[in-house]
Amino acid sequence: MKTAQLLNYSHDTWIPGSGQLAEIASAIDGSLVATTGSGGLDFKGMLDHARTVGGPALRKLTFHERARIIKGLGLAILDRKEELYELNYLTGATRKDGWIDIEGGAGTLLSFSSKGRRELPDAHVLLDGALEPLSKNGTFQGQHIYTSMHGAAVHINAFNFPVWGMLEKLAPTLLAGMPAIVKPASSTAYLCEAAVRVMIDSGLLPEGAVQLIVGGVGDLFDHLGGQDVVSFTGSAATALKLKSHPVVQRESVRFVAEQDSLNASILGPEAGPGTPEFDLFVKEVVNEMTVKAGQKCTAIRRAMAPAKHLDALEAAIRERLGKTTVGDPRDQESRMGSLVSCAQRDDVRAQVQKLIAAGARIVAGDPAASPGPDGGAFMDPILLRADDPWTASAVHDVEAFGPVSTIMPYRDSADAIALANRGMGSLALSLFTHSPDAAREFIQGAASFHGRMLVINRDNAAESTGHGSPLPVLVHGGPGRAGGSEEMGGIRGVKHYMQRTAIQSTPAMLAAISEQYIPGAPKHFVEGHPFTKRMGELRIGDTLKTTSRTVTIADIEHFAEFTGDKFYAHMDEEAAKASPIFEGRVAHGYLILSFAAGLFVWPDPGPVLANTGLENLRFLTPLYPGDSMRVELTVRSKSLKSEDSGVVRWAVEVFNQKDELVATYDLLTENLP
Ligand code: NAP
Repeated sequence: MKTAQLLNYSHDTWIPGSGQLAEIASAIDGSLVATTGSGGLDFKGMLDHARTVGGPALRKLTFHERARIIKGLGLAILDRKEELYELNYLTGATRKDGWIDIEGGAGTLLSFSSKGRRELPDAHVLLDGALEPLSKNGTFQGQHIYTSMHGAAVHINAFNFPVWGMLEKLAPTLLAGMPAIVKPASSTAYLCEAAVRVMIDSGLLPEGAVQLIVGGVGDLFDHLGGQDVVSFTGSAATALKLKSHPVVQRESVRFVAEQDSLNASILGPEAGPGTPEFDLFVKEVVNEMTVKAGQKCTAIRRAMAPAKHLDALEAAIRERLGKTTVGDPRDQESRMGSLVSCAQRDDVRAQVQKLIAAGARIVAGDPAASPGPDGGAFMDPILLRADDPWTASAVHDVEAFGPVSTIMPYRDSADAIALANRGMGSLALSLFTHSPDAAREFIQGAASFHGRMLVINRDNAAESTGHGSPLPVLVHGGPGRAGGSEEMGGIRGVKHYMQRTAIQSTPAMLAAISEQYIPGAPKHFVEGHPFTKRMGELRIGDTLKTTSRTVTIADIEHFAEFTGDKFYAHMDEEAAKASPIFEGRVAHGYLILSFAAGLFVWPDPGPVLANTGLENLRFLTPLYPGDSMRVELTVRSKSLKSEDSGVVRWAVEVFNQKDELVATYDLLTENLP
């Protein structure tokens, strides 16, 4: 790569930093890769640009429109991934490591895009929970909603996943309708800068939606306000410094922190040598030590086994580590590349010495060795053993952010739980067991200390995504020293960038505000059957009012014979009368649903392709023989699944001849857009 000065992206323009520039060295041989700096940037102006240009442009778009942009960004990255892989090697990462970062990052964008189109409405407001009745006649009700925050999201990222680390924050932020200012860690900023360039070049992002700082953040924190969000990933020390900033405190700036973590993995009490779980455990510990040279916030730092199996575990891990070739990440023979920099390696070596001083001893690897090419940040994977994890607190507290793990014994399940929880909060914990009792005891005893937990065994190992992989659909984060926040988790992560507000008003106002039909709000009784209209033609609140039909005793008996459902309430007058609920025989709930469909369905092929489910079904008033029923079918909300299909959510209300509500539910149909 030609040495270049990295550029900042401020006010929709690529700008070189002025003044003192930092040099970034290749992790492989120490040669100069790039210079970088952010001197001269107008940090306050960047925040203002995000707030006044990027935010309004994003907020104008619906969730679905934003989701389509996010998908386009993911595809653009995949399209130009080879450019990124070339830079990835310079960080010391192998192609497999780079796959997690680059394709994993693009996959996270695609996953959020898909979630956004499936789970969010094609609207600007997200409802939170159900309508809360607040008055007798229903004219005054409560509804919680989420709307986009009006500030800027400041993303400060760690060095280890320069692409994924940026995108896992960017996807939920953009989906929420918030602009972002991204600040990557300096040591791998060239890879992040290249990925930002791909996204800007795609032309998909509205102006002001994304800006980039390749260097220090200057006086940016002095200008933060209560509508901004800081989302930080890195060490606990930096997190503490940033969240203690007086402006963050004074303005109650929302602060999401993903910090370091002494993740544990436990070999189940019954899983001795010879069991599949023992072998799987060994494989996973070695994998987590060597992937990305152990520079993963989720890597296994503490591997715990029943005391009687510790020797066998040590031997098995040593044997497997012996097959790990460390070397130039561009060389396909290399199973493990280098650390990100020689400074990072020095840091890891120093942390290993702290673990040794606390009573752990090295059983594999030499921390002083430099196995790869000259000038590179290579080191051996280091396996430590702590025979007394009860008094050696450092093994639960000192994070060596590299290819380092410590094995330790536990006495029984309660002891394993106590030891695991001494990490004081972690991102991920895995348990290798085939025993449901062990899994229940362990997870219930330790879950409140850990953000994500996996129980791995012979039944799921082949399909497991592994201990160290955060997934866009699951929360990533943990309590205590892990930072106390959560990222991703599907739509949960989007809400970090939105404000929840309780709204109180009439159903009509609540429906207008939330861009969704809310029971009790005005309906538009339409000409023509809504099933003959494509999604684009359907308006929220469009309603079909059906004719009515009478339900007879013969209908009930026929249905009972036909389905075999001869429950007393439908077939035994005396028993039904004697029940505390009914005054006599009643129609089956399923009969009401079937007759309802018979009343509202349009039979011909058309834009409604299929009924995909019912939700929130409630039977409210019994329907007696001789009663009649009719249906009002209302478009509640619409969401797109893909370019070719979508889901319409219909509010179905079944009334009797006295206009009492008999049943209510949401019907989901798959539709042509
Ligand atoms: P770090 O030194 O804390 O740096 C993290 C980020 O903060 C970098 O972008 C850094 O920029 C920036 N930063 C440092 N001082 C700052 C300041 N005064 N103002 C604004 N920004 C500042 O952490 P790291 O060495 O990059 O990453 C390793 C650590 O991160 C490990 O402890 C690891 O466990 C943790 N980590 C956690 C997660 C997670 O999801 N929980 C993920 C990955 C890593 P510069 O590089 O320019 O200084």
